[in-house]
Amino acid sequence: MQCLSCGSANVAERLERTAQGYRRFRCRECGRQFNERTAGVLNRTQYPSDVIALVVLWRLRYRLTLRDLSEMFLARGLVFSYEAVREWEAKLTPILSDELRQRRGRRRLTPTWMRPTSRPAGDGAISTGRSIAMVRWLM
Ligand SMILES: [Zn+2]
Repeated sequence: MQCLSCGSANVAERLERTAQGYRRFRCRECGRQFNERTAGVLNRTQYPSDVIALVVLWRLRYRLTLRDLSEMFLARGLVFSYEAVREWEAKLTPILSDELRQRRGRRRLTPTWMRPTSRPAGDGAISTGRSIAMVRWLM
């Protein structure tokens, strides 16, 4: 991890974590503190990045309304407004579309027999694998 202010690699990880459980760091050169999410677009959001990524993924994939998503996650104990969904979508959609465009370009170069296959979960379970992959792009 490098300091986000001065770029120094002389960074110490702190023992405590943020409220959402992200690792915290302190630069030994300039004294600034930051966490894993500081430079990301979801910095200072109330919910963890994987939850937000899942909300946006479901919004884009299943074309759910803003209010559908806030009601669906309310049933799971997560309270946020439809305006929050709109803000998250505005932040993440450009990043996701850029990433998907790059992946699509890479996939064209891959021979058909080397392409990974995807199978839907037969038991109806919700897969968070894609949202976790999205989180890696956002952090
Ligand atoms: Zn620094």
